[in-house]
Amino acid sequence: MLQEKSLDFLKRFVDTPSPSGFERPAQEVWREYVSEFADRVESDVQGNSIGIVNERGNPRVMLIGHCDEIGFMVRYVNDHGFIYFGAIGGIDPNIVPAKRVIISTAKGPVKGVVGRIAIHMMDKDDEKKSVKMHDLWVDIGAKNKKEALKRVAIGDPIVFDCEFEMLSGKFAVARGFDDKMGAFAVAEALKMLSKKKRLKAAVYGVASVQEEISFAGAATSAFSIKPDVVIAVDVGNATDTPAVSKEKYGEIKLGEGPIIDKGSSVSPAVEEMLKRVARKNKIPFQPCASPSWTGTDADAAFKSRGGVACGLVSVPNRYMHTPVEVIHLGDLEQCARLMAAFATELTAKVDFKR
Ligand SMILES: [Zn+2]
Repeated sequence: MLQEKSLDFLKRFVDTPSPSGFERPAQEVWREYVSEFADRVESDVQGNSIGIVNERGNPRVMLIGHCDEIGFMVRYVNDHGFIYFGAIGGIDPNIVPAKRVIISTAKGPVKGVVGRIAIHMMDKDDEKKSVKMHDLWVDIGAKNKKEALKRVAIGDPIVFDCEFEMLSGKFAVARGFDDKMGAFAVAEALKMLSKKKRLKAAVYGVASVQEEISFAGAATSAFSIKPDVVIAVDVGNATDTPAVSKEKYGEIKLGEGPIIDKGSSVSPAVEEMLKRVARKNKIPFQPCASPSWTGTDADAAFKSRGGVACGLVSVPNRYMHTPVEVIHLGDLEQCARLMAAFATELTAKVDFKR
């Protein structure tokens, strides 16, 4: 079970807004936590955070989880003070109406709601109409445009207003487990590795930025760190709920351990080593096929410089990119353990050439 201190950090971290491009408040939480056990903690011009353990070691391994989340951005305020917005990352417009939101402004958080016409006033065919993001508005209780613009500015980021909660057992719900739980797993793996006496590898733990819109943080941090091997950690779509096709997306369940990907940007040698290390350490895992791309930081890191051997571990996640993402904390713990065990097994002799 996660230690109380780790769980407190996870809660604080996921509840701190960090839509892509606006990660700083969450990065500060991550760096403060990691500075307690890393040899050195850095940030870079892109906004990535990097915690380093055993810097002089060989080879260099980079563990990376992105700390940005999906969200919205203030685009336009009409004469009545209602705010129109664009999406940061991939969001289904159908889930947005009638939600509470928080706008992060220069003067602090501003609360609002996404308006939705009452059922009594809907036209007959309204139900069938598909929701468009640009038809939705945020109501912050402003009298008019002038008053609204005193409180918010064009370009301010917005997130759903909801907090981390335990459901039952180890099932937890939060906004933005994608992928703050990945950056959390990186921090936990670093913590475990900081206590290891016989660690050969230099370990660079990265909380990356902008994965949801461009993979920029992974591309630039992999370039700067020059790792020999990268393990990316992200959420993976669970298929254990109604209305999801296993024929189309494979079989992934919550509570059955982390996912280890095969294919596309994943190095076969890293994938095999991850599975071997998992078996050796009695860490359950679920295999997953990524035929064309993984849609994670691994896709950027493996193309860095002359090419980098990449692995991908993921935590099964239900309802991705919604305010009610559900994960099993047991999978998260095992995922952090797997990354730490992998780094512990690394020596200069391990060859990742294909
Ligand atoms: Zn995502």
